[in-house]
Amino acid sequence: MKLKSILSLIAVMLCFSCTRNAITGRNQLSLVSEDELQQMSITQYKQFLSQSKVVAKTNDNAEMVQRVGKRIANAITQYYQQKGIANNISNYKWEFNLVESKEVNAWCMPGGKVVVYTGILPITQNEDALAIVLGHEITHAVAGHGRERMSQAMVAQGIQIAGNVALSNNPQTVNIFNAVYGSGAQLGYLLPNSRTQELEADHYGLIFAAMAGYDPRQAIPFWQRMAKLGGAKPPAFLSDHPADEERIKKLQELMPEALTYYKPVKQ
Ligand SMILES: [Zn+2]
Repeated sequence: MKLKSILSLIAVMLCFSCTRNAITGRNQLSLVSEDELQQMSITQYKQFLSQSKVVAKTNDNAEMVQRVGKRIANAITQYYQQKGIANNISNYKWEFNLVESKEVNAWCMPGGKVVVYTGILPITQNEDALAIVLGHEITHAVAGHGRERMSQAMVAQGIQIAGNVALSNNPQTVNIFNAVYGSGAQLGYLLPNSRTQELEADHYGLIFAAMAGYDPRQAIPFWQRMAKLGGAKPPAFLSDHPADEERIKKLQELMPEALTYYKPVKQ
C-alpha cells in the first residue's frame, strides 16, 4: 500500500498522466478520460434530477437559467472556435436545470450538465450576476478542474484504474465524482477547488459572461453579497468559493481584460 502511494506520487510528480488543458494551457493530472467523465455525468445528472424538485421549464426563473446558460454556452463555443480548439467541447450536450432548494449553489458536470439551485437566486438578484455564476461554474468544467480534482482524490485514496472496469460501476469513484462536481453537497461531502482553479474559473468566467453580453462588473457586488452570507452554517458554495478580499482584488485586476470582450445585448 505504502509503495503503491509512493509510486503514484512519483507518477504525479513526473506527470506521466498529465494533459495540457486547451484553454488554460496548464498541465493537469488526468487519470480519467474526458469520455469516461462525460458518460458518468449523464448517469449522475439524470439520477440527481430524478431525486430533486426540478422547476418546470416554463417558470420565469427556469427560463432565465436556460436563457443565460445558452448564451454563455454560445460564447464559450465562439471563444473555442476563435482559438482553434473547438473540438475540445464539440461533444458537449448542454442542459440547464433550475432545482428547488434552499442550498446556495450551482454546478456544471463535464459535457455541460448544469444545475442552478433556487437558493442562489436571492444572491445573484439579476441576470448579469447569474451569468457570472454560470460562467464561473462552466469554466470549472471546460478547464478540466473536476477531472484534476478527481484524479488527485483517486491517488490520495489509492484507487487503481482497471482498464476494463467502467468508473461508474465503482461506488468509490462515484462518491468522488459527486464530491467533486457539487452534486454531493447536500449530503455534506465536497472536494473544494484549489485557489489556482478558482482564479482560472473567475478569469475565463468573466470573459465568457462578457462575450455573452452580460456586464462582468456585476461580479464584484455579487461576491460582496456572497461574502455577507457566512454565519454559523455557511453554504457549501462558500466553502468551495471563498468570498474574501483576495478574490475581489483579483476580480478587479481581471476586469479591464474582461471589459474588452463586453458587448451589451438588450435583455
Ligand atoms: Zn469555483
